[in-house]
Amino acid sequence: MTTTKVNERIFLSSPHMSDEGYELEYVKEAFDTNWIAPLGENVNGFEIELAEKVGSKAAAALSSGTAAIHLALRAAGVSEGDIVFCPTLTFSATANPIIYQNAVPVFIDSNYETWNICPQALEDAFLRYPEVKAVIVVHLYGLSADMDRIVELCKKYNVAIIEDAAESLGTYYKGKHTGTFGDYGIFSFNGNKIITTSGGGMLVSNNEEKISKARFWATQSRDQARHYQHSELGFNYRMSNVVAGIGRGQLKVLNQRVEKKKYIYEFYKRELSELEGVQFMPSNDWDEPNYWLSSMTLTGKVRPIHIFEALEAENIESRPVWKPMHLQPFFEKYDYIGEDVSENLFENGVCLPSDTKMTDEDLERVVETIKGMWLK
Ligand SMILES: *Cc1c(COP(=O)(O)O)cnc(C)c1O
Repeated sequence: MTTTKVNERIFLSSPHMSDEGYELEYVKEAFDTNWIAPLGENVNGFEIELAEKVGSKAAAALSSGTAAIHLALRAAGVSEGDIVFCPTLTFSATANPIIYQNAVPVFIDSNYETWNICPQALEDAFLRYPEVKAVIVVHLYGLSADMDRIVELCKKYNVAIIEDAAESLGTYYKGKHTGTFGDYGIFSFNGNKIITTSGGGMLVSNNEEKISKARFWATQSRDQARHYQHSELGFNYRMSNVVAGIGRGQLKVLNQRVEKKKYIYEFYKRELSELEGVQFMPSNDWDEPNYWLSSMTLTGKVRPIHIFEALEAENIESRPVWKPMHLQPFFEKYDYIGEDVSENLFENGVCLPSDTKMTDEDLERVVETIKGMWLK
């Protein structure tokens, strides 16, 4: 390696505020008007601006993406004992809210074409559990699932779709934004997502009544009365007006972030795809991904563990692909439908650092370290 500069840490994906300082302007406005909490202009503005960006009729700003999935399940009428189909290859936050509702997850395998829920496995699941109440679809690493086939199947069985688009803000499937194909879509603004508010989430839907209901649940289900009166179970899930200010600023640079993520992906692909055993995450004609995390699988003599260790030694963060839910101690008692695709992706997958603050020098450092593994 030729680099002599101090090995500053390179992150997988870390917060990246705008150069223009948009976020601080909105936050300052909240301070100046003392609209610190709970609601206010930024919350309303963020909801309207995000809904417009993705092309949805309405949105509710919430405290996390997990909270948004929870309220989506409630809005879809999922309750105790109901079955919910859920991709096995995902972050646990997709599946946990099913348990919050005392419902029962059935985990579904991925396919290699999308890394997301496999339509064939989904069809098998419908045959086995025709009474299923809702289907959660995830767009992993910003790659869109095979929505036409999934929507068609869910229509045929008349089951609600909840799209976990936590990782795919900025991704389009056939020109339409992911998160807007189902009855409900959710986004996350956690610290490592493509844009962040430090923490937060959004529930979107074309059903404005359901979104109003979600806002009501998220503010402790307070009935219209002078005294505190509650006819339903409530939650403290609303986003604060300060946090929403960060979100409004971040939304202005979303397109820039997608462009940079794509640049990072193309850089890696150009430099690494010729190495023996390397295969990059899938690309499909229908898909315009946000490239949240550039990922690849390794099936040659260089194993993922070699890459993780070599990068860590250079102070560079990398990660395995999500460990499937049906292999998690907490979830292994639930049914799983599919073959071994998600397991293979987990065993062979590497998520490369995809931080939008990376320079070409940083990318070079990552690429040289990885290439070195093939020279041993
Ligand atoms: C981050 C993430 C979530 C959860 O979002 P939070 O805002 O952290 O609660 C849900 N699903 C997936 C796939 C995620 O990556």
